Amino acid sequence: MEFDYDLFVIGGGSGGVRAARMAAGYGARVGVAEEFRFGGTCVVRGCVPKKLMVYASAFSELFEDAEGYGWQVGPRSFDWSRFIAAKDAEIARLEAIYARNLDLAGCELHRCRAEVTGPHTVRLASHGHEVRARHILIATGGTPFVPDIPGAHHAITSNEIFDLPHLPARVAVVGGGYIACEFAGILNGLGARVTQLYRGEQILRGFDDDVRGHVAGLMRAKGIDLRTETDVARIDRAEDGLVLTLVDGARLAVDCVLYATGRVPNTAGLGLEKAGVALGPRGEVLVDRWSQTNVPSIFAVGDVTDRLALTPVAIREGAAFARTVFGGEPTAADHSDVPTAVFTQPEIGTVGLTEAEARREAEVEIYRSTFRPMFHTLSGRDERMLMKMVVRKSDRRVLGVHIVGHAAAEMIQLAGVAVKMGATKEDFDRTVAVHPTAAEELVTMR
Ligand code: FAD
Ligand code: NDP
Repeated sequence: MEFDYDLFVIGGGSGGVRAARMAAGYGARVGVAEEFRFGGTCVVRGCVPKKLMVYASAFSELFEDAEGYGWQVGPRSFDWSRFIAAKDAEIARLEAIYARNLDLAGCELHRCRAEVTGPHTVRLASHGHEVRARHILIATGGTPFVPDIPGAHHAITSNEIFDLPHLPARVAVVGGGYIACEFAGILNGLGARVTQLYRGEQILRGFDDDVRGHVAGLMRAKGIDLRTETDVARIDRAEDGLVLTLVDGARLAVDCVLYATGRVPNTAGLGLEKAGVALGPRGEVLVDRWSQTNVPSIFAVGDVTDRLALTPVAIREGAAFARTVFGGEPTAADHSDVPTAVFTQPEIGTVGLTEAEARREAEVEIYRSTFRPMFHTLSGRDERMLMKMVVRKSDRRVLGVHIVGHAAAEMIQLAGVAVKMGATKEDFDRTVAVHPTAAEELVTMR
């Protein structure tokens, strides 16, 4: 078979772009199709606009805190439209950079939907004809999942929240994961009245229990009406907004309901079944450590594989794929000890095992500290930081580090290096503190 491309990538997001650029760098003829905007979820409606919103929303507390430091802060208000316009300009700038970098690497860009028609063939929606590729990479990401309840069509998801015409005054956020907790904080900080509804006992399932309790307490202290062990039974339109009926019959009047109840892999209608690619129960593309599917010419990276749905992980998987297939250097994607942050307010930084996970594997010692960071001595805000270290008793190796507080995401990146290197508690201890910081607690915990 004559091929038009050595590699055809479907999806111009974090994983697809990295794989395409690297493969082109190895000399491959690469085509990339993107049906929405280059940069993908992270750049257009994920990490980047979300973090800009976190920054925007944090000012409301900072204005209050400034008074403790002697500042007189005058009347203030938030202009949603001005912020959204600035955010949109930044996203457009980044999108252009992503497309330009692909172009400069020598990739051929197709701004259209693509579907798989066989182990080596892809149909491009723009002109309807097929292209032939030696290898196909599925990097189509995920899409928000909304449970099928009466009135679900009144809800929005994270896809729409970035483009609302104005800031809603009363918001219900449904879910207790990353997106729900981050947006509860953002909307609350921007001035909305936020009710967060989570079906389980405690938000952020999968995180360390101390972290979950600490963050939930701080979210409530900041004014979020966080209700657990509840759910929405139906949503109805009312004269002045929406009315949610909860499973216990209680009613809640809001202007907007944001569903953040997980994401599903983007494989619907992609034609993978026709090519014989095996999918899992959530529609995820099943791959091995090399990101190869059961059809040898078809690979998949990123959220569509439902492994760890984080941008840096998708990028690493894309890079490992390119190195394996085009660089002659078989490289498995590494999913161990991946540091991650949840941009709640204050934020969470975490790497390695939770206390509960570690206890299932070994005898452990726990080092835990809660303290008032120096910044809040004068701000007067009653907000404590949490730091926790999970240490294996037998060899003193640090299995997990968990931080809640200002700059936890920045700190965990570096603690992650130590954990990845196999540092022991004593390695942390013999590192001299940086004073005065909150991070010094990491090397002084007893
Ligand atoms: P994507 O980035 O989703 O890219 C897939 C691309 O494929 C999309 O652009 C899509 O339009 C395109 N596509 C799909 N189907 C087709 C088709 N048939 N033809 C052509 N194109 C197609 N991760 C972090 O690490 N940190 C964060 O702070 C963070 N915040 C997030 C906040 C939100 C609100 C969300 C939703 C996600 C966040 N994530 C974060 C997760 C992160 O965005 C994803 O893990 C990452 O984008 C996955 O990259 P990907 O390449 O797998 O998919
Ligand atoms: P998560 O999987 O993190 O959370 C989904 C939440 O929705 C959970 O609390 C879950 O509850 C709940 N839920 C699921 N199904 C239902 C249902 N039928 N009814 C009611 N509640 C339900 O997904 P997100 O959408 O928040 O985010 C998707 C992924 O994107 C994250 O897992 C993360 O990998 C990535 N992301 C990363 C960010 C970062 O790095 N800072 C930020 C945002 C997203 P339960 O726990 O009971 O199952």
